[in-house]
Amino acid sequence: MDFAFTDDQELFRKAVGAFSEREIAPIARECDERGEYPLSLIRKIGALGYLGAKFPPEYGGSQAGLVSGAIMAEEMAQASPGIFLGIYVHVYLALSAVAAFGTEDQKEAYLRPGIAGDKIGAWAFAEPDAGSDPGGMKTRATRDGDGYSVNGSKILITNGDIADFLVVTTVTAPGQGMRGLSLIIVDRDSPGFTARRLHTMGMRAAHTAELAFEDCRVPADHLLGEENTGLASALRTLTEGRVIASAFAVGLGRAAFNRSLEFAKQRLAFGQPIGGFQGIQWLFADMATRLEAARLLTYQAAWRAEQGLPYITESSMAKLFASETATEIAKTAVLIHGGAGFMMEHDIQRFYRDCMVLEIGEGTSHIQRNTIAHQLGL
Ligand SMILES: Cc1cc2nc3c(=O)[nH]c(=O)nc-3n(C[C@H](O)[C@H](O)[C@H](O)COP(=O)(O)OP(=O)(O)OC[C@H]3O[C@@H](n4cnc5c(N)ncnc54)[C@H](O)[C@@H]3O)c2cc1C
Repeated sequence: MDFAFTDDQELFRKAVGAFSEREIAPIARECDERGEYPLSLIRKIGALGYLGAKFPPEYGGSQAGLVSGAIMAEEMAQASPGIFLGIYVHVYLALSAVAAFGTEDQKEAYLRPGIAGDKIGAWAFAEPDAGSDPGGMKTRATRDGDGYSVNGSKILITNGDIADFLVVTTVTAPGQGMRGLSLIIVDRDSPGFTARRLHTMGMRAAHTAELAFEDCRVPADHLLGEENTGLASALRTLTEGRVIASAFAVGLGRAAFNRSLEFAKQRLAFGQPIGGFQGIQWLFADMATRLEAARLLTYQAAWRAEQGLPYITESSMAKLFASETATEIAKTAVLIHGGAGFMMEHDIQRFYRDCMVLEIGEGTSHIQRNTIAHQLGL
């Protein structure tokens, strides 16, 4: 067995890590406080080629694989979870779906500029009455002449009000339940489409929006994949996305852990650094062990995906364990900081507000447990 990154992966990790420290970390707090997403930074990241790590070279990518995708997620998320959330949804959900199921024209129109950072995408799956249960989806795409007329709404959509295009899951065969869903690409300027930003507890640098489609006209060639195969396409996209979400959680956990370790070495109580107390040392031992286990589950799932091995169970296990680990570490990190952990001028409160999304998005922890149990034959 080989647990080491290849030389190329190690070089990639160092380059992305240095970039994230230099360009993302310094603006993380300000973007959170102002609720601003740094779109110009996304173009810069695109120009460096990082957004194309998993895509084919003919569209500007480097086909470096999912392990490299996980490396990028871990490095960028530890610099700013809020900023990385927008990148995650753009690259690992919206662009991934276009790359996997798109026509040549769709790849030219969305994948190529998306990799360059010139266009940003969103993934519009969740609805007010259908989050965990896609069978409850109501947003309807009705064939009408040379296109579709889309009606309905989506909620909690990352990048929803800043995206140039959205990959929208719609009902195309009413009454067929999950077998009647299709993916459709909707351009931001489509007539009948509007988006309204929502206010969130955490990940405040990212934009989260509610979308409305009222007789929204979409050309027929914006259908992504075959009609009525949308659920299978969405699940395939989400399975891969969960591996990156796991690395995202490892990055967030690592950031909260590192800040706490520095703090515990400096903060004095009862005449010694608080890191000298065995009770505090055990907290660090547990956090370090969980973080390492989360990292191993994550990279194992990414490696299996790259090898073409089944990885549905591993992807859910990694997402479940890594997101719960990030929450546990963020909570412990606030406690270790004492009152300072509750103050807005310390970064640690931001990790605490950000972490819960990773247990909710891409399927909640309950849904991951359901998937794992289902894979066990239950
Ligand atoms: C900040 C943020 C960003 C998001 N970004 C996006 C995005 O970009 N695109 C997108 O499509 N969605 C996005 N989401 C939505 C997210 O995917 C959903 O919120 C999530 O899937 C849960 O759906 P729900 O909110 O409808 O909860 P529900 O499905 O109503 O679930 C409510 C509770 O019931 C539990 N539950 C439901 N069914 C079961 C079951 N069978 N067994 C056990 N427990 C169950 C759930 O685990 C949860 O605890 C985002 C959410 C947030 C908070």
